[in-house]
Amino acid sequence: MLFEDLSLSKSIQKAVYELGYTTPTPIQEQSIPLVLAGKDVIGCAQTGTGKTAAFAIPIIHQLHRIVGSSKKAKQIRALVVTPTRELAVQIGQSFDTYAKYTNLTQLTIFGGVSQNPQVDALKNGIDILIATPGRLLDLHKQGFIDLDHLHTLVLDEADQMLDMGFVNDVKKIVKLTPNNRQTLFFSATMPIAIRELAEMFLTEPQTITV
Ligand code: AMP
Repeated sequence: MLFEDLSLSKSIQKAVYELGYTTPTPIQEQSIPLVLAGKDVIGCAQTGTGKTAAFAIPIIHQLHRIVGSSKKAKQIRALVVTPTRELAVQIGQSFDTYAKYTNLTQLTIFGGVSQNPQVDALKNGIDILIATPGRLLDLHKQGFIDLDHLHTLVLDEADQMLDMGFVNDVKKIVKLTPNNRQTLFFSATMPIAIRELAEMFLTEPQTITV
């Protein structure tokens, strides 16, 4: 299979082509059509498998179609929750690269730094938010984050979030999002505690293992 067989919008195909990607990785080949079809997905995959593009590319495609060139105020339509600052930054860079030829805007927020630039960027309006759990809840509590219009929620590295003690934060975050959202759940391992979490958050999920 080639990227051009996935019926992605031209602006995404161009960005992918410029990166030199020709064929989707196995997780991308399985995940992209399911996400585009609006399914909830459980992806069992390690970092390095192309997991980020497996969720970022179809999210950008969907939002590009929904938001298009509309001049309406921007609302957070996709949220990626990930355990560490390093992962958040990497995911943010991936969204920047794949969405380069769209009008979509994204922001990465994490703790341990001043919140002011993050708050200013949120006030300008963004389509896609990438966040670590603590800073996300903190800024939400202060009224700077509205998740009422969320279309897709990604929980990335779920097993690591559990290990780092973020389980209650993640539960709180999920409660702040609409019930009719699409949920994508990625984890390198799938112990019972992770399966139970996935069951709590996802509706009729499709499972992908690579
Ligand atoms: P990830 O698993 O998301 O951390 O991605 C691992 C690396 O693979 C990143 O450096 C990506 O830029 C690269 N990558 C992702 N998808 C592809 C692809 N389809 N073809 C070639 N490289 C890719």
